[in-house]
Amino acid sequence: MLNGKTALVTGSTSGIGLGIAQALARQGANIVLNGFGDVDGPRAQVLAAGEHAGVRVAYHGADMSRQGDIEDMLRYAASQFGRVDILVNNAGIQHVAPVQDFPPEKWDAIIAINLTSAFHTTRLALPGMLAAGWGRIINVASVHGLVGSAQKSAYVAAKHGIVGLTKVTALETAPTGVTCNAICPGWVLTPLVQKQVDAKAAEHGLSNDEAKKLLLGEKEPSMQFTTPEELGALAVFLCSAAGNNVRGVAWNMDGAWAAQ
Ligand code: NAD
Repeated sequence: MLNGKTALVTGSTSGIGLGIAQALARQGANIVLNGFGDVDGPRAQVLAAGEHAGVRVAYHGADMSRQGDIEDMLRYAASQFGRVDILVNNAGIQHVAPVQDFPPEKWDAIIAINLTSAFHTTRLALPGMLAAGWGRIINVASVHGLVGSAQKSAYVAAKHGIVGLTKVTALETAPTGVTCNAICPGWVLTPLVQKQVDAKAAEHGLSNDEAKKLLLGEKEPSMQFTTPEELGALAVFLCSAAGNNVRGVAWNMDGAWAAQ
């Protein structure tokens, strides 16, 4: 379905980004990976997912808090594949602390990585998409783009911000073949959330399983983690022809978290 298209997925060496990259590769899209840590493992997983379609996988290690790195990555993607057809803004970090104790440098990093990076990738990728008459921008926001949680001021501000950016981008591209939407997961058991499970286990003297249940029970009525595979399937839908007129949506996959 996505043969000949190129997807740039930020923060795709782990978790949700890796799941979305695999799902898009399975549909035949060439992939530009980005993120820190081991690259060979994720690259092999994405190549395997797209092997039947002869998918090519490139990697750029841009630090998404740095404008110059992001500009370099978009130039690199163009040099490898011509242009970016599908942009998935997924890179993100978390830090928890009450507002009065929130380290200003953590605030700046979260706003830069979780929000400002998406502005830069979007402004750089859009001209190519508009010229081609087709494009998909998928912003991995969060249920925290729609509701707040204590101790997550920077994260909730960044995620509400990216939902706003999604709406404005969708409005500006509405008469074109480019769509922009946000995905809003609840809990997904990735390294980002495992840290919060570990903190709960340590705080209350719980096992890993007990801490997971406590975490889910506080917020997610389904008592189920959303999976990177499920989020990948939603991204594939947004890239399909059926998604042509889905614009400016912030789509929850949150086990009814925000329905409360
Ligand atoms: P993760 O920690 O598994 O993956 C984060 C990815 O971002 C990694 O590839 C990491 O290397 C990359 N990254 C971090 N800082 C970076 C930087 N400065 N430059 C480039 N890459 C960087 O986390 P995840 O849970 O898969 O989170 C992915 C996205 O999903 C984030 O935007 C997060 O806010 C969002 N999200 C996660 C959950 C959840 O429950 N896990 C829920 C809602 C939304």
